[in-house]
Amino acid sequence: MTTVTGMVAHVGLARNYVGGKWIDPSGGRLPVFDPATGNQIAEVGISTAADVVAAVDVAQAAYLPWRNTPPVDRARPLFRLKHLMEEHFEELASLVTLDHGKTIADARGEVRRAIENVEVACGIPTLMMGYGLEDGAARGIDEHVIRQPLGVFAAVVPFNFPLMVPFWFWPYAVACGNSYVIKPSEQDPLPLVRVYELIDRCGFPPGVINLVQGTREAVDTLLDEPRIQGISFVGSSPVARYIYSRASANGKRVQAQGGAKNTLVVLPDAVPLVDGAVSNILGSCFGAAGQRCLAGSILLTVGDVHDQVVDVLAAAGNAMSVGDGADPSIDVGPVISGASRDRIVAAIDAGAGSGARLVVDGRNPSVREANAVGYFVGPTVFDRVAPDNALAQTEIFGPVLSIDNEPTLDAAIDRINAMTFGNAASLYTGRGKAAREFRHRVVAGNIGINVGVAAAMAYFPFAGMKASFFGTLHGQGRDAVEFFTDKKVYIERWF
Ligand code: NAD
Repeated sequence: MTTVTGMVAHVGLARNYVGGKWIDPSGGRLPVFDPATGNQIAEVGISTAADVVAAVDVAQAAYLPWRNTPPVDRARPLFRLKHLMEEHFEELASLVTLDHGKTIADARGEVRRAIENVEVACGIPTLMMGYGLEDGAARGIDEHVIRQPLGVFAAVVPFNFPLMVPFWFWPYAVACGNSYVIKPSEQDPLPLVRVYELIDRCGFPPGVINLVQGTREAVDTLLDEPRIQGISFVGSSPVARYIYSRASANGKRVQAQGGAKNTLVVLPDAVPLVDGAVSNILGSCFGAAGQRCLAGSILLTVGDVHDQVVDVLAAAGNAMSVGDGADPSIDVGPVISGASRDRIVAAIDAGAGSGARLVVDGRNPSVREANAVGYFVGPTVFDRVAPDNALAQTEIFGPVLSIDNEPTLDAAIDRINAMTFGNAASLYTGRGKAAREFRHRVVAGNIGINVGVAAAMAYFPFAGMKASFFGTLHGQGRDAVEFFTDKKVYIERWF
């Protein structure tokens, strides 16, 4: 049993949920840790190829009856899930903090975003409508398009939003009449297990929504399984590229969201500096310990505002509290694992010897709680980071900010557009013309103007560009409905 403040989690072993039943995966187990203490808190089962095929068997069997259920009835279990998630809101957020490490405020935001996707998918009778035109083909010949589900879809999701990311996809897929299989990250599978316990009470027919734990073997089985119609992936770019290539070679629809290296640009007229409100920038760079795909990790100042920005951010970064994310006064929780911490510290070591100036050093942070001996890295700030420095090119996925100066906004935009990734970019300015220019020219999927984390709401599409996204249709909202349905045209004439 895993104890969480204020609740008892039901997880000792994270298992598969297949056909409405909890099943032990047959490929062994891996430990699951609390990143704030380094203590093992559960185990996760590892699915073999046969376990995954068994899940696809039941999903395929559930598909036809579910497809023939009217959309308005398919939405009803989602309404129930929304209510159950509201009822268990704090419990779900605590479980995200326990298993992932992010602060409880961040975890609450994550649960809220998940619920919002359920709310949007509840509107499926409207979202899924087709369109038609009387006399569309000729006089007396009408033409219509209808949307139809395709079958079984699957998602492979990352550790950094263990609860929210699957909700970019599955509520829409299932509301559209498909059945579904999710493979969570083996690093923090517990929040989704709890979600499935709630899903179990919502009235979905068995087999419509399934969960398989595991690692590469489980993923490859999904990529090759001929009955899987499409794959939604979120994770690092090398794996996103691999998923896209292999699944699309197998004839599947694929949307594969990859890694990021997001830039914040600060102009001298930036309002946040004028009124001293830098918390927006700090939240972007150090929130969730830098483990967001929308985290700011490069900051470019333009013109003579540079020293002021560095001083303000250094003072603010130094003042941030580091510790167990369950403590509401903590600003920066642990990173996901010891391996992650060691990788981030190695990147800081290399950066310190690279010619950049280490302004705030998070390698040995003073951690608030005595028992919080887990995987901590404090806010870290480098200045004078040249474009070819590894700090400026590699996704570090930790609380490390690299600052540099550019003479003009044009130069800053060129620098952003020369980078490999294109997930997000933000501009801090008080000038509409500069904002318009930035939005128009920057090659990134999510643009913030005086907003450090430009995270699309559930009714807007979410994906990056360049090496941050492989595919066409994005997650969430109308794009999700497009991804999870096919369009059929019919033309009719009556004599
Ligand atoms: P990851 O790529 O290591 O793992 C993601 C998923 O793929 C996991 O379920 C994992 O089990 C599986 N996986 C890992 N290696 C695999 C392989 N070789 N073959 C098949 N499956 C494999 O990513 P992560 O470390 O869990 O998550 C962090 C990454 O996700 C960061 O790069 C971050 O930027 C990215 N991310 C992107 C977005 C976005 O919207 N673009 C959102 C969240 C996270």
